[in-house]
Amino acid sequence: MAQELSPESPFKEEVQKYLEESGVKETTDEILGPFSEITNQILEAMWNALLPGSPFSSLSWELLTFTFICAAVFWFSRKGRGSKDSTGRERPAKNLLQYLFPKDIYTHQSARVDIGLYLLDRGMFPIWFALSLGAVAPFLERNTIAGFEAMFGASPAIEPTVAWRLFYGLVSILMVDAIFYWTHYMMHKTQIGWALHKVHHSAQVLTPWTRPREHFIVGPLWALGPAIGLAISGGIFAWVFNGNITQITIVNVGIFSVLYALNGNFRHYHVSFRYPRSLELWLQSPGMHHTHHSYLEKHWDSNLGLVTSIWDRMMGTIYIADKYEETPWGLAEKDQREYTILKDNLVTPVKEICRILRGRPKEYPAQSSPDLTPRNSTDLTA
Ligand SMILES: [Zn+2]
Ligand SMILES: [Zn+2]
Repeated sequence: MAQELSPESPFKEEVQKYLEESGVKETTDEILGPFSEITNQILEAMWNALLPGSPFSSLSWELLTFTFICAAVFWFSRKGRGSKDSTGRERPAKNLLQYLFPKDIYTHQSARVDIGLYLLDRGMFPIWFALSLGAVAPFLERNTIAGFEAMFGASPAIEPTVAWRLFYGLVSILMVDAIFYWTHYMMHKTQIGWALHKVHHSAQVLTPWTRPREHFIVGPLWALGPAIGLAISGGIFAWVFNGNITQITIVNVGIFSVLYALNGNFRHYHVSFRYPRSLELWLQSPGMHHTHHSYLEKHWDSNLGLVTSIWDRMMGTIYIADKYEETPWGLAEKDQREYTILKDNLVTPVKEICRILRGRPKEYPAQSSPDLTPRNSTDLTA
């Protein structure tokens, strides 16, 4: 994203040149927000999104390398501790390779499903991108600017100092955080949401490719949420700074994008990355997401946040685990059976939604052996 908002954007230069040459700059002087500026680059961005090395992807090789370097530092500093095996239990690793890429995790069927869903997600992403960043976000941004102009008059044209830039970054990240929490909350607390979101939670091991593990129906929703948050804050601050937001956006969104991506990679990685408890009460450590993926009843619907723990604390969904607490990943056995292979992860949610819309009760196929896993498999809203 940072690259798209570059001040050297040829689109912006073109527009400015055109406005100057045509002599309409003084009369129109329209404030352009960051999203409006990138609409002209949608096609290029769509191609970028398809490429594995795309800067849009938290799975770009640079970020993955950075993730593994951080994990290697943990290996040395923790003397081989702090990584989990495929059952979600802490397992001291014998060597660095086992610490970074344990065989039982990367050969697990769940990891293969991650890759299948990831490739599908990549294929669909240009559509979501065009829909959210390319259409809805610039529209929202333009209207936010117009709304502020209507309510408060012309832009105060505040000098974008470092403090103001940080404030803008903070507002943006808090908006994204709030939208993420409530989207995630609805995914867990509504029957249709949970039928779809089970695809993410059916991951029995966590790898960086678990992050985009979602049913393609919810792809637009996850793309749209942050785009709405960023578009509104982008619109507000484009008005505050009289359009001088472009430069600031790169700095802020760029930095936050990297932190967000790194945090996201560790959220779905078997090496636990926790903060001190006093900090986790305010900020979501990546390791808190390990608990979120656990099928143990005490961990259900916990730690729904992305950046801060504020919403989790307000809604009573925060769970701060012990240092080496076991977090077995996946769904209850009954549900897991319906969401294990790639095909089922694509088909089962659609079947489930049809069943819910028809008002039919959930029926599980008869089992030959008793379900020993503790997670209750009934719909969460039932
Ligand atoms: Zn979830
Ligand atoms: Zn997750």
